[in-house]
Amino acid sequence: MKILVLEDELSIRDFVRINLKRQSYEVVEASTGEEALALAMMDREIDIALLDVMLPGMDGFAVCKELRHHYPRMGIIMLTAKGQEQDKVIGLEAGADDYVVKPFSPLELVARVKALYRRMHPDDGDLKQKLVVDPFTILLDERRLFKAGQEIELTPKEFELISLLMQQMNKAVSRDEILTAVWGKYYVGDLKIVDVNIRRIRQKIEADASRPKHLETVWGYGYLWRKEQADEGT
Ligand code: CA
Repeated sequence: MKILVLEDELSIRDFVRINLKRQSYEVVEASTGEEALALAMMDREIDIALLDVMLPGMDGFAVCKELRHHYPRMGIIMLTAKGQEQDKVIGLEAGADDYVVKPFSPLELVARVKALYRRMHPDDGDLKQKLVVDPFTILLDERRLFKAGQEIELTPKEFELISLLMQQMNKAVSRDEILTAVWGKYYVGDLKIVDVNIRRIRQKIEADASRPKHLETVWGYGYLWRKEQADEGT
């Protein structure tokens, strides 16, 4: 994903760039509206533009209108100042898709960018968020698991463990790898925590926890999520 950041204040621009790059997004920057438009005219690969409103020269709304005119499918988020409620309305009228109120946290900004990108690409967004392994459905963003339509209550660690295994179906994952991925590199304690959580998950998801059909043990190594082969002809 390529993002254009238009912001005249260097400290905010740096902050935004650093946090977007941390998500592996490509970032192009402009400090004036004129510069942003010139960039956008040269670079047709921009997916999303983040536009500050208050700028020397051309303001963010004018830039938004121009971008929207040339790129009907570009995602546009306005960076509006706190207390400037009317900015949201003007921005949306100028063709913006969303707005973030300053000061914003990196989490909030990234969440808005991701949400907008998903709205722009509903199909691949869905693939990443939702995993269906019959009879289970896991919603990765919402952190919820369903079995045959019934929600299964999981603790945060149980959820992380099960999503780790479900995302690598039929692949054995070692207990060490599970411990590091779910409890972190600096977890002090032993591997038994993995087995304890596996046992609890089995009680929640398996018809018979002593003879698991989904969450299998790989003796002397770890665990795997077994996806049964679909029956031919059914
Ligand atoms: Ca500004």
